[in-house]
Amino acid sequence: MARQGVHVTVFERSHTLGGRARVVRKDGWEVDNGQHILVGAYTELTRLLRLTGGSPKQLARLPLTLHVPGRLHMRAAALPAPLHLAVGLLTARGLTWRDRLAMLRLMRWLKAQGYAPDPAMTVADMLRDTAQTSTLRELIWEPLCVAALNTPIAEASARVFAAVLRDSLASGAAASELLIPRVDLSELFPVPAARYLATRRGTLRTGNAIDGIQSGPDGFTLSGDPGRRPWSQVVIATAPYHAGALLASTGACDRLAAQLDALPHEPIVTVYLALGSGQHLPQPMIGLARGPAQWAFDRGMLGGSEGLIACVISASGPHEALPRDELILATHAQLEAELGRRLPKLEWSQVIVEKRATFACGPGVFRPDIRTPLPGLWLAGDYVESEYPATLESAVRSGVACANAILVRASR
Ligand SMILES: Cc1cc2nc3c(=O)[nH]c(=O)nc-3n(C[C@H](O)[C@H](O)[C@H](O)COP(=O)(O)OP(=O)(O)OC[C@H]3O[C@@H](n4cnc5c(N)ncnc54)[C@H](O)[C@@H]3O)c2cc1C
Repeated sequence: MARQGVHVTVFERSHTLGGRARVVRKDGWEVDNGQHILVGAYTELTRLLRLTGGSPKQLARLPLTLHVPGRLHMRAAALPAPLHLAVGLLTARGLTWRDRLAMLRLMRWLKAQGYAPDPAMTVADMLRDTAQTSTLRELIWEPLCVAALNTPIAEASARVFAAVLRDSLASGAAASELLIPRVDLSELFPVPAARYLATRRGTLRTGNAIDGIQSGPDGFTLSGDPGRRPWSQVVIATAPYHAGALLASTGACDRLAAQLDALPHEPIVTVYLALGSGQHLPQPMIGLARGPAQWAFDRGMLGGSEGLIACVISASGPHEALPRDELILATHAQLEAELGRRLPKLEWSQVIVEKRATFACGPGVFRPDIRTPLPGLWLAGDYVESEYPATLESAVRSGVACANAILVRASR
């Protein structure tokens, strides 16, 4: 909207920009609230990164590689689809011919379904119906599903996972590339976006929560807006668990507010382990079997501090019962077991728990439209209707959809 000359005001409750994708400063360390992975198929996000002046160097581009130390190594070849996967499968280490055929069977089945299986189906149903092997389930499908949908396979929507697989395994090498931020998440997009806004007569008010929205004859007034001016258009761009109260405050969106308040959520825990200089993982990103963490990232290989490892534990599980120091010990021990060597004493560690990281992406989960019952009041966020799970890309796409709809109305 700013690009089209609209004077936009953003009210942000926090003093740190980025929401659920932000920098966290602790003990002199700068880490993210959670390791984020983007994929080449995130076209709207990468377009906005370019628009707001982001440099391609801010993202490490890695060919889709699934590496579980000593058990699996599979890398998509730099070829057009489906050759990139076919060659990747042929050259994979750790998969038998039975595994390879099972994976091809699943990919063929998905294609025959138009990548839109029955909306009531779970990922577990889909894996059973296509006779996936236990190796594929354990080393590929379960960790990929939990990473992409933040929901365990028994509860995850097969349709949403199919869209993820279509745009990664079944698309060309560029779409399936992993893009891993080399800068912190606030620097990646929100800070340049704020600069972009400022040079286009927009206003960003940090530390300014909005507590209620009232609709009147001149437009919307916002409790918490120091200007108390009426606004012709308002986009609620919060997490779903904050949008409900704002919608309810209008007095005209009670049903929608109740539906958002009823959304189930899943946590993500990130355990940062600072192992010191000279310490590296065999790859920038590795899969970890035998819990609690599913993936580990070598921040030193990705533009961050050398020896800093981010271990990701997606979705709910027994790890939630562990006190933080025990979780650190368990993750450290898991990493040692997976790498098959003793690791040095930790220089620093940190556990970041995001209790409501994303909505639980089950079959038929309620995802609202950008339109609300009140004309001029819109919803943007990762939970809004999308074929994608709760991701940066779905959040950005819904925001762009709101902007386009508002611009169309304004031009009438
Ligand atoms: C640990 C973790 C790991 C993740 N990993 C990935 C990943 O690898 N890849 C991926 O694509 N996605 C990932 N995600 C998901 C991704 O971060 C979210 O989908 C995305 O950030 C959601 O953006 P959003 O704009 O919808 O909401 P948010 O990021 O929640 O932004 C909402 C903003 O609204 C503000 N706000 C709330 N209430 C008010 C109010 N009343 N007044 C003013 N401001 C208010 C908040 O402070 C916040 O800044 C991860 C999330 C977490 C937590």
